[in-house]
Amino acid sequence: MENKKLVTILIPAYNEEEVLNMLYERLYSIMESVPNYNFELLFVNDGSKDNTLNIIKDLRKNDKRVCYLNLSRNYGKEIAMIAGLDYSKGDAVIIIDADLQDPPELIPQMISLWEQGYDDVYAKRKSRKGETWLKKFTSKMYYKTLQSVTKIEIQKDTGDFRLLDRRCVEALKQFRESQRYTKGLFSWIGYNKKEILYDRDPRAAGKTKWNYRKLINLSIDGITSFTTAPLRWATTTGIFISIIGFIYMMFIIIKTLAYGVDVPGYSSTMVVILFIGGIQLVFLGIIGEYLGRAFYESKHRPIYFIDTYNEEKETNLPK
Ligand code: UDP
Ligand code: MG
Repeated sequence: MENKKLVTILIPAYNEEEVLNMLYERLYSIMESVPNYNFELLFVNDGSKDNTLNIIKDLRKNDKRVCYLNLSRNYGKEIAMIAGLDYSKGDAVIIIDADLQDPPELIPQMISLWEQGYDDVYAKRKSRKGETWLKKFTSKMYYKTLQSVTKIEIQKDTGDFRLLDRRCVEALKQFRESQRYTKGLFSWIGYNKKEILYDRDPRAAGKTKWNYRKLINLSIDGITSFTTAPLRWATTTGIFISIIGFIYMMFIIIKTLAYGVDVPGYSSTMVVILFIGGIQLVFLGIIGEYLGRAFYESKHRPIYFIDTYNEEKETNLPK
């Protein structure tokens, strides 16, 4: 009994009252099917406004493998995950969505690959049921752009559903940035990676918490937390436009000397002013993005606070 390895299943949950019992049943039968391991089901309640916390507490009454971390408010999934990693005890941690979009049936396979020596076994989507073509298209374009600007390999069609060996968890715990883009961090830390393919199911119940506004923000975080390439684009575009401007200037000077001043030219002047003005604003925005990140990170604020860990009121400050 005591020599069994401990596997933590980390479940960030925000307003998931409709699926939690279903999730627990699925996980329960999976845990039965791999009896050689001990399990810890660590729910991170990310400031849910529904019954999520009570359901988790009820589960814990009957099954002491269920643990929970109750965050002091809603922080978003990225932070819920690092909080969970901080409190996880397992020799391996499996991160899984609460909504059953990640099939728990892959867990035994993940564990057996882990036993073969892989540190990061991630699940890659073969298909995505119940998602609009627009979401699939934008996500594809996004991965493409992100990959083109960074040297680190970003895994396509991969979410946060994965098994991490303890040393990956310890590595991830060292990234204390407040604007997190965990997907990128998984690649950043490296180690032995292994992918398994699966069909992504539609949400079992409840609604997605993502909307386009949140997704756009996450995408910008993804790029700006990973690379300063956009700043470089700004420089090269600036150089390019200056060269064109210089050539045009020479042209105008010579033309004026040869043919004298001609007054018309309002529309061409406006076009140039608007074009350059637009580019300047975009690049100011890009600089602002980085400045903003530097601003947030330089404050070194704690990234989350815990209300309760299991039954205990948490008074320890986060690491
Ligand atoms: N989630 C969270 N905090 C949030 C939003 C979401 O912990 O602020 C959790 C949510 O409960 C789920 C997972 O993150 O377990 C993925 O969320 P969702 O299914 O809404 O995203 P999608 O699958 O649509 O990308
Ligand atoms: Mg989902």
